[in-house]
Order: sequence, then structure tokens, then C-alpha cells
Amino acid sequence: MIEFDLPAISQFVDEHVIPLEPLLLSQQWSELNSALSRIRKKVKYQNWWPTHPELKPMPLYHMGLLSEIVGRSPLGHYAFGFQAPDIGNMELLEQFGSAELKNKWLRPLKLGDIRSCFAMTEPNNPGSNPTLLSTTAEIKNDQWVINGHKWFTTSADGAQFMIVMAITDPSAPKHLRASMILVPADTPGMKLIRNIPVMGHSGHGYFSHGEIEFKDCHIPVNNLIGKAGQGFKLAQHRLGPGRIHHCMRWIGVANRCFDLMCKHVKNRQITDQQVLADQALIQAKVADAYTSIQAARALVLNTAKHIDDTNFEATRFNISMIKFHCADMLQKVINHSLQCLGSAGMSDDHIIAYFYREERAATIYDGPNEVHQLSLAKQILKSY
Ligand SMILES: Cc1cc2nc3c(=O)[nH]c(=O)nc-3n(C[C@H](O)[C@H](O)[C@H](O)COP(=O)(O)OP(=O)(O)OC[C@H]3O[C@@H](n4cnc5c(N)ncnc54)[C@H](O)[C@@H]3O)c2cc1C
Repeated sequence: MIEFDLPAISQFVDEHVIPLEPLLLSQQWSELNSALSRIRKKVKYQNWWPTHPELKPMPLYHMGLLSEIVGRSPLGHYAFGFQAPDIGNMELLEQFGSAELKNKWLRPLKLGDIRSCFAMTEPNNPGSNPTLLSTTAEIKNDQWVINGHKWFTTSADGAQFMIVMAITDPSAPKHLRASMILVPADTPGMKLIRNIPVMGHSGHGYFSHGEIEFKDCHIPVNNLIGKAGQGFKLAQHRLGPGRIHHCMRWIGVANRCFDLMCKHVKNRQITDQQVLADQALIQAKVADAYTSIQAARALVLNTAKHIDDTNFEATRFNISMIKFHCADMLQKVINHSLQCLGSAGMSDDHIIAYFYREERAATIYDGPNEVHQLSLAKQILKSY
């Protein structure tokens, strides 16, 4: 098992990754991409590239600790090569991909040489219930022919391949109707219609959400991941470890916002005699944010350990808990922090405004919070 030097990585993030954030905030995409390439070389040189194909996969617990540290910057996961949705696709191909798919797509993905995306959600169906899809894949002349419409496909812009969830057997029971198929980006019939504008920003490359159209898109039958009809099961597997990565990243974001808030309130003079930190109402926010972060952190690390010791199936209960608990914690901490910074917090010059905008989606993707609350409550109430 590899053991990373987490304090050294934390220092690296402070010295090399956080200084690149102005390029992201001012949307200087080509400068940002070049700078990220340089940083990635440094990360690899230090042997800190967690998904390197020659390394044994790290336990989720350790991956979680790394995610927390690098998650303090929105660029951290990109610098270390385990950003969503690539990391989820790596875990999926590792477990369910054929030797051919692994060799052609997984290896370069793990090395950070190519990028990928994951297309499940559709504009005309509820993403909260992935058994309801309209995109179809039929076998004709030994090829899958895909037709349909997807959106919010994160990082589709510039990705070399996409994993598409499509209905392959409409007459099967609802959990066995869909399959996952790997679609290379240059395949005729697949079109990126646009990068969807999100809260005033259209994004670019990694930082984009695509709307995609499939019209008679022909794909080799061997590009099926797992077996036909396993799409729903694979989606659950993909999202299990993914929730640990997201939740620990969110804890990193919350720590960063908390830190910025505390530094600001200690220095912001509000009368001749007092700074903001002297106010009881501000102190309550500090105590509330700190406790919320620590509680979320303990819950996620406990869940990661449980997955490492057992398996994903045995940990579904905890995974639902951490998803909505951490997403709610994140909204609260970012909001407290923005409030304490006042107008500076609202400014697009500032990382807090970026987090406020970008991380609002945490309660929606990877299963909306309500869906996890329902699933958890049902499991709890079974025992009464
Ligand atoms: C920034 C961002 C990135 C994303 N990236 C990807 C991606 O890479 N690939 C991909 O396939 N998808 C992606 N998505 C889509 C995401 O997974 C879906 O938005 C999510 O599954 C919810 O689906 P929906 O938007 O269709 O909402 P709906 O299913 O229409 O639900 C709308 C709202 O209703 C509420 N709700 C839903 N079900 C229930 C219920 N049973 N009880 C009570 N309330 C309920 C929830 O509040 C939910 O937000 C992304 C979304 C965002 C915002």
C-alpha cells in the first residue's frame, strides 16, 4: 500500500495549486490548462499520482484523506489526476471493463493522458430515478446503435470518451433494462450541442456540463461495460466510492471557507475597539461551522473505513447518510463564510463566490438529497 506524505502534499497545494486559482476565476482556460499540465508533471515526479497504473489502488480511507487536502482548491483534484467524473469511470472500468477496454481506455485515463465523461441524465426524464431513460441502444449488424438526448454530462467538452447509459432491453424488469456503453468522442452520430450555461458561466473543458445528442451513433458491440442489463447495478457501484471522493472534497472546500472566514473576522475592524470576531453572533457561526465540519468528517471517514473493511453493498446505509449530511453541511459553511466576508465574499474575484456558485449542485448530483433521505428513512423504519 502506498502512504503519501499528506503534510508535504498540503504544502504543495498551498504553494503551487492555490496560486493558479485566479486563472480559473478569470476563465483564462488555455493558460490554466498549460499551468495544470506543468503541475501534473511535478505531482508525478513526486510519485504522488494516486491512480498510477503501476501502483496498487489506495484504500478509500487514504484516498479520502488525500481528497480532503487537495479539495481545498477547486483545482486540486485536477492537479493530482483523480477528478470527477474520470475517477468514477476509472473505478467502473477497473471492475467491469473487458481487457480490451482496459488496455485502450483505462490505462491512459489513469495516467491522465486522456479525459472522459459520464452520460446518464436526460433533459426529459427525472435523473433522480435512473430506471427512467429514453436513450436506446439496439444491436444492428453486430453494432450498438444509440439514439437519445443527454445533458449535464460534466467535462464532455474535450473528453476522449464517454460512458453512456442507454436502454438495451425495454421489455426487461425496470432495473435490468439499461446498459453502459463506452462511446469514443469522434464517433459519427454523437454531437456536443452546447456547454450548458450554469449560473451565468458556460465553462470550458473539465469545467463544463454538456448537452449531447445521439442520432444513429454506431458503436462496436465489444464496447459494452459489464453485461447487457447491468447498467443500473453498475451506476450504483460507480457512485458508491464516488460519494466518498465528493464528500471528502466537500470537507476540503468547507475547511478552506472556514479558514478564510476565521482570518477575515479576526481582522475586520467594525468599531474603534472591536473586530467582527468579538461579536457573539459571529462566534456562533464559527462554532456552528466548525462542529458541522468535524461531524461530517468523522461520518465520512468512518464510512470509508467500513467500505474498505467490508464492501460497498454493506455500506449503502452510511453512504446515503454522508451524501445529504455533507452536502447540507457544505451549503451552510460556504454561506456562513460568504456572509462574514460581506461584499468581498460576493465578488467574483474571490474563491468563496466561486464555491457558492459551483457547490450549490452538491445537494442535486449523485442522487438528490431527498432521494438519499428517503432511502435511509426506509431502511431505518424497517427495524421498527
Ligand atoms: C453540476 C452538475 C453536474 C452533473 N454532472 C452529471 C454528469 O456528469 N453525468 C450525469 O449523467 N448527470 C450529471 N448531473 C445530473 C444530476 O445527476 C441530476 O441533476 C440529478 O440526478 C437529478 O436529476 P434531475 O436534475 O433530472 O432532477 P429530478 O429528478 O427532476 O428532480 C428534481 C428535484 O426534485 C427533488 N426530488 C427528486 N426525487 C424526489 C423524491 N423522491 N422525493 C422528494 N423530492 C424529490 C429533488 O430536490 C430534485 O433536485 C449533474 C448535475 C449537476 C447540477
